[in-house]
Amino acid sequence: MQDNNLGLPFWEGFLASDLERKNGATWITLVPDPRAPLVCSGCDSNCWQIHETGWRVVRDMPMLGDPVWLRVRLRRVRCSECGTRAERVKWLDRHARVTQRLAEFVGLWCQKLPVAHVCKLSGLHWDTVRRIERTNLAAQIGVP
Ligand SMILES: [Zn+2]
Repeated sequence: MQDNNLGLPFWEGFLASDLERKNGATWITLVPDPRAPLVCSGCDSNCWQIHETGWRVVRDMPMLGDPVWLRVRLRRVRCSECGTRAERVKWLDRHARVTQRLAEFVGLWCQKLPVAHVCKLSGLHWDTVRRIERTNLAAQIGVP
């Protein structure tokens, strides 16, 4: 493990390896914490074999007035039960482009404020806020 990795408590299982401010935004690079278990998203069992790794860029809650972009190094595991699957990340849903924390924040405020206000608060585009709002509403009424 590199000495400059920060074990910040915001992204379970990951370490912040880089933090950069550019163009009025904060970019944080997250790499897997080698001490954290590698878990299959299909069956929730621990895995040891990595099939491949890749990067996903996702939004998190604004920090100190800046939008926050995460560059996350995600792995696909080779699970003995499921075959090749994405790893389970507790704070990030499958294929999601925003963290669960940000999606919950947007969902909560969409119930109380006009979408334009939620865009301002979250720093997200109108379409993104509306998509999260629709997803949350669908989950509440049980639409798959
Ligand atoms: Zn599995």
